[in-house]
Amino acid sequence: PGPERKNSRQRFVVSLSACLFDFVIQLLPTADEMAVKEDVRKLLERLIRTIEPDSRLLSFGSTANGFSLRNSDMDLCCLIDSDERLSAADLVTMLGDLLERETKFHVKPLPHARIPIVKLSLDPSPGLPLGIACDIGFENRLALENTRLLMCYAMIDPTRVRTMVLFLKVWSKRRKINSPYQGTLSSYGYVLLVIYFLVHVKNPPVLPNLQQMPPLRPISKEDTHVGGHNTWFFDDIELLRQRWGSSNMETVAELLIDFFRYYARDFSYNTGVASIRAGLLKKESKGWQNDLTGGRYHDARERNRLCIEDPFETDFNVARCVTKDGLYTIRGEFMRASRILATRPERAIVALAQLCE
Ligand code: ATP
Ligand code: MG
Repeated sequence: PGPERKNSRQRFVVSLSACLFDFVIQLLPTADEMAVKEDVRKLLERLIRTIEPDSRLLSFGSTANGFSLRNSDMDLCCLIDSDERLSAADLVTMLGDLLERETKFHVKPLPHARIPIVKLSLDPSPGLPLGIACDIGFENRLALENTRLLMCYAMIDPTRVRTMVLFLKVWSKRRKINSPYQGTLSSYGYVLLVIYFLVHVKNPPVLPNLQQMPPLRPISKEDTHVGGHNTWFFDDIELLRQRWGSSNMETVAELLIDFFRYYARDFSYNTGVASIRAGLLKKESKGWQNDLTGGRYHDARERNRLCIEDPFETDFNVARCVTKDGLYTIRGEFMRASRILATRPERAIVALAQLCE
């Protein structure tokens, strides 16, 4: 490219990066909102302890991993530190009754769901203009660990990682491709796509692979396995921040442009599995192929259009809800975003508005 074009590209990415930071900052939860959520967590914990005295109620998902937007829902997990405990289904039913009696929440216990949960919500009020939505599950230790893994990734390079993830969350919601129940991808899935891109696609990488780094001291199997899954990862972030300096100096705008291009054009949707633990894998090697036709394989085929390996539950495809149509829509959106950014509108803010239309 001639020097003139190079300059105009440079100007565009600098101003787009600035716009991205501004845009994302406005969408962060306020300190007030965080405080209200913490109060709610404490209140619920106190109530649950009247049923199970040895229990703790912990936050996971976006409220705990640093990728939270204003008014995002709360994911809570109840851990019970005693050997004799009620079944999750019984706990859900009892807790549902208790919360119905003792609080102003709308309560919906789902004791027979694949993962039994109690769903809670509060209507908007003057002190809480957007209300609150919250799910309480039980003993979901893997979710706590994957939340901690995402949080560690966010902390290594907070500016670039958080800006990208938060922007993509808003973008995917506004473009209506963030509904696993309607055949598109969960927020968790999008976050894994970003981390996969920053660890395995970018060269030099923006992030190290925390699950493959050598441990500082010997570790025993008991310390690292949860329910048969290896959940070890390098989590000494202070040390990492001192030692890991990525030589990738791209701006957040350059990374975002590249992200859209990669998932619009280059990712091998038909045969590939995105694994933040192990890089690009083959569907075949995981038994996740989608080219089997008819009969009993039909289901497998529908479940494995898009494959994203869970970092710990490696036999679990995080994107199994994505249907053929859903994937078509998602890829169409990656292409649209890529196209908009490639035209480099005069003002970056216009590009952002157009992206999230
Ligand atoms: P949002 O702000 O949109 O609620 P989030 O970061 O809380 O986003 P969710 O998709 O709500 O993301 O997921 C919350 C947590 O639930 C994740 O951190 C993960 O632990 C767990 N989770 C969600 N979806 C899946 C999935 N498909 N497979 C495994 N775990 C999941
Ligand atoms: Mg959530």
